[in-house]
Amino acid sequence: MPTSFMYFTLICFPTFGQTSLPLVINTWSFKNATAAAWEVLQSGGSALDAVEKGCERCQEEQCDGSVGYGGSPDESGETTLDALIMDGNTMEVGAVADLKRIKNAIGVARAVMERTEHTMLVGESATLFAENMGFVTEDLTTVNSLDIFTQWLKGSCQPNYRKNVFPNPSKSCRPYKPIAKLGPEKKLHTNVHSHDTIGMIAFDRYGHIAAGTSTNGLTHKIPGRVGDSPIVGAGAYADSTAGAAAATGDGDVMMRFLPSFLAVEMMRAGTDPSAACKMAISRIKRHYADFFGAIICANATGHYGAACNKVPGLLQFHYMVSNCESDTPLLKSVECF
Ligand code: ASP
Repeated sequence: MPTSFMYFTLICFPTFGQTSLPLVINTWSFKNATAAAWEVLQSGGSALDAVEKGCERCQEEQCDGSVGYGGSPDESGETTLDALIMDGNTMEVGAVADLKRIKNAIGVARAVMERTEHTMLVGESATLFAENMGFVTEDLTTVNSLDIFTQWLKGSCQPNYRKNVFPNPSKSCRPYKPIAKLGPEKKLHTNVHSHDTIGMIAFDRYGHIAAGTSTNGLTHKIPGRVGDSPIVGAGAYADSTAGAAAATGDGDVMMRFLPSFLAVEMMRAGTDPSAACKMAISRIKRHYADFFGAIICANATGHYGAACNKVPGLLQFHYMVSNCESDTPLLKSVECF
């Protein structure tokens, strides 16, 4: 009997009151990441290990150019990384933001969780911590990221995320100075091509949940910008007694609403996962009708769903699922509303 089949039958047994566990769900069609996480669970690994390995796979493969090294160069051409990992049993969290020159952001996030009493480390200090923990420093710039950056400079640094500054940021590059009069909020211009994040939820066979994220954020972001992905309750949240959620999209807007926390609390109160995801999106929509974003949700019994805000470029949201129903990751989609 092939080993993978043996594992599949050994691990995939029905559990009373639950859908078949274990389970992996992640944002976007990052199939190899799902498979990597599932492999960990199949061989009896923990939900935390699954999330770490799944996100790590995306980092190595530079999923969509928006996870890992060599993507989303900032205004100075540098790629910096944000990541989060959360243990839904202990409520421990580790996160890194604006991490420089280290490829394995999710690994460093886990080290923050397991080797410090802090929750988040940022910037050069996070890099120094990572180096001390044995992570290798290297340049995250690639030919591709350099090309994106060079083209952007040639195009007068368009688009960028500045407002209320001089010279006019819709025409000129930095340096900028503040102008006296504040104008209206600038229209969001993030779209399906300027970002994506892997957000992952994993359940082991006992219902222990972990969640995590990894991203290089937004292309042409202002140096120092931290998105929603490493913010607990925004990018992801997990509580084994209630469920877990992970978000992707316009992090600058989404983090203001803690959508992952909100969805988990809705599920704790009995809302089904699809409805909880929708409520988290609706809350943001009320203030930012045209924000770009999506969320995946799973309750404590392993039922799952997703939701997204319907905008040009995002009519349907794709996500991946691995569970005992199939030996290979399943591509799922939800219509945005
Ligand atoms: N949420 C990420 C960020 O704002 C990007 C994304 O998921 O598309 O950094």
